[in-house]
Amino acid sequence: MSLLLENAANSIRLGLEDFDTDEDDRLLSAARNLHAGLLLLYKEKLRRLSPTGSDEVLLKQNIEPIFDSAGNLTFVGKGRKTVDTQKIKERFKSLEISADWKSLDEVTKIRNEIEHYFTTAGKDAVREIISKSFILFRDFTRGELSEDPRDLLGEDAWLSMTDISEVYEQERKECEDAIENYEWTASELQDAALNTSCLECGSSLIEPINDPKRPDVRCRSCGKIQIFEEFAEHAMAEGIDHHSHIKDGGDSIVVICPNCSQETYHYELGMCVSCEESVDHDCDRCGSTIPPEELDYDSLCGYCRHMMSKDD
Ligand SMILES: [Zn+2]
Ligand SMILES: [Zn+2]
Ligand SMILES: [Zn+2]
Repeated sequence: MSLLLENAANSIRLGLEDFDTDEDDRLLSAARNLHAGLLLLYKEKLRRLSPTGSDEVLLKQNIEPIFDSAGNLTFVGKGRKTVDTQKIKERFKSLEISADWKSLDEVTKIRNEIEHYFTTAGKDAVREIISKSFILFRDFTRGELSEDPRDLLGEDAWLSMTDISEVYEQERKECEDAIENYEWTASELQDAALNTSCLECGSSLIEPINDPKRPDVRCRSCGKIQIFEEFAEHAMAEGIDHHSHIKDGGDSIVVICPNCSQETYHYELGMCVSCEESVDHDCDRCGSTIPPEELDYDSLCGYCRHMMSKDD
């Protein structure tokens, strides 16, 4: 096995060890090792494609044209600097080597976030890196290096990585269970919470904490906590399929609450899921049902409110 390939596998194994220690200050190291392991894997591909005697030309950041001993033009690597991520992408593109850059960029992004916001980054952010790295490593090793990823990583690391992906799924399940076990102010809010993700990082690993009826919501991935009122409004916007409802000719499901002024008044329920206030849905003057946007404390429909104001 080449040194590069060995280093790639080592780096990934080290990342897993960092993760396994349960020490928060090693999570950054885990993220860095996993990311570095993937880059080494890509470099191994470039090393293999470099012609003999070229001083591993494709691995070098700088390339120099020279005449070989027979007088033919050839390219060799110049200097000691090896390719950076951008250069790897460029070489892969021109050499038609496929790699999932979108996933790698996501891994890079999470790693950078851990570097910058270390205090708020949780173990789940690293778990997400591991899940993504696992798939990148497995597919590239098989597809582009024709090696067995399981042999390369070793049985323990391989099983650990598959487990972690499963753990991620398990965590989501725990979050869902917690949402279902909390009381909430209304089942409508509870249902919406199941379809809502973190405002900050988009992760669906969000869980209710503190008060059982009016819980705050914490993101397990980035640590962001939304207080109850803030989350209620976010969930009413994101966790409900407003679009298809209105398309089917229905009224607005959620409107601005006359009491707390948040967009959390659930019309069908007849109650605000945030402040729990209710207002009359029947007009005191004409007896008709007041449409969602016309609800207010005066128990009048828009028309009657207009007429009453003329009488003044
Ligand atoms: Zn988050
Ligand atoms: Zn309200
Ligand atoms: Zn009326």
